[in-house]
Amino acid sequence: MLLTLIDGQEPAPNVLALAHSLDLPVEAVLHVTSDGADADDADDVAGHLTDELAKQGVATLHLIRHELLAGYAPEAFGEALAQLVAHLRPAAVLAAGTDRGTEIMAHAAARARLPLATNCVAVTGGDPWLLTRARGGGMLLEEAELTAPVKLATVAQGAAAPADAQAVDNCAVREFVPELLPELARTRVVERTAGRGGITLATAPVIVSGGRGVGSAEGYAVLEELAALLGGAVGCSRVATNNGWRPHSDQVGLTGTKVAPDLYIACGISGATQHWVGCTDSKAILAVNTDPEAPMVARATYAVIGDVHEVLPAVVAEIRARSS
Ligand SMILES: Cc1cc2nc3c(=O)[nH]c(=O)nc-3n(C[C@H](O)[C@H](O)[C@H](O)COP(=O)(O)OP(=O)(O)OC[C@H]3O[C@@H](n4cnc5c(N)ncnc54)[C@H](O)[C@@H]3O)c2cc1C
Repeated sequence: MLLTLIDGQEPAPNVLALAHSLDLPVEAVLHVTSDGADADDADDVAGHLTDELAKQGVATLHLIRHELLAGYAPEAFGEALAQLVAHLRPAAVLAAGTDRGTEIMAHAAARARLPLATNCVAVTGGDPWLLTRARGGGMLLEEAELTAPVKLATVAQGAAAPADAQAVDNCAVREFVPELLPELARTRVVERTAGRGGITLATAPVIVSGGRGVGSAEGYAVLEELAALLGGAVGCSRVATNNGWRPHSDQVGLTGTKVAPDLYIACGISGATQHWVGCTDSKAILAVNTDPEAPMVARATYAVIGDVHEVLPAVVAEIRARSS
């Protein structure tokens, strides 16, 4: 039997498709809280899910229920999943390769002392499993083998085409109550703040992005000005977030946001691989850099060799002059 982790209110189609391709009975698992009104909401979600899962050929939904499983608490979710794995001994557990899916599986794997293969785009069953994994932000594909008594893997987003699963008559619900120590909820979501609204990195047609070459938090004023004039957003490299110049939500790259604007203006950014994987889908890239040998300059569609503190104010002044 193979378990698929449901994180949210819908099964992930790519996870189910990959699960069904492995020729094992597929069951599902969902974390829910046993606490007050949220428990009633959880029952509503489970009720809706069982209909959907039956259509997708999943005959059993395991509800892991505990009061600590309210909201999102990755350590508690991981420990609870590890206990269910020890109880059911499935052949494998698959989850979506989202931030949350990966985090829960990493905690579960560490606690169950099992290896975890992340970001799989293809899996061939048997023993060992033969895996193809997306690495380096999708820049390369790795062929790997996974040998383990229970195989844990996350599925890269968009990896497997949705399959036509054989529907089953109904999906039965089985409850599992883990034993969780209160300290497992020490890492949990306690507050959600609304985004800033307006144009975001994901939707901006133009991104004016700054790196170490910008030099300071104050140095981003001219990038903000240019972005506003072009109807765009400001992005940055990890050096800028590490230095506290910009919030992490502005970071582009492997450990930031992947962007695909019409124009990406990379100001004082060298173009390290971890940054490049985040902006490589841009339709055009303009590099502003003092170093003509910088990788970003070599890969960009256009480049201006110069100091951002001179080039950007000149561009802003020119745009203002032309629009007045
Ligand atoms: C696991 C891991 C994940 C990572 N994830 C990310 C990520 O998501 N995003 C990311 O950005 N990085 C990431 N990094 C870091 C990455 O490797 C680089 O260190 C980082 O991108 C470099 O940032 P930078 O280009 O701003 O700085 P640098 O590499 O120091 O480059 C600065 C550039 O500015 C130019 N310059 C300097 N002064 C000026 C000036 N006055 N005018 C014009 N140009 C100037 C220089 O010529 C140079 O090209 C990650 C690293 C690791 C190990």
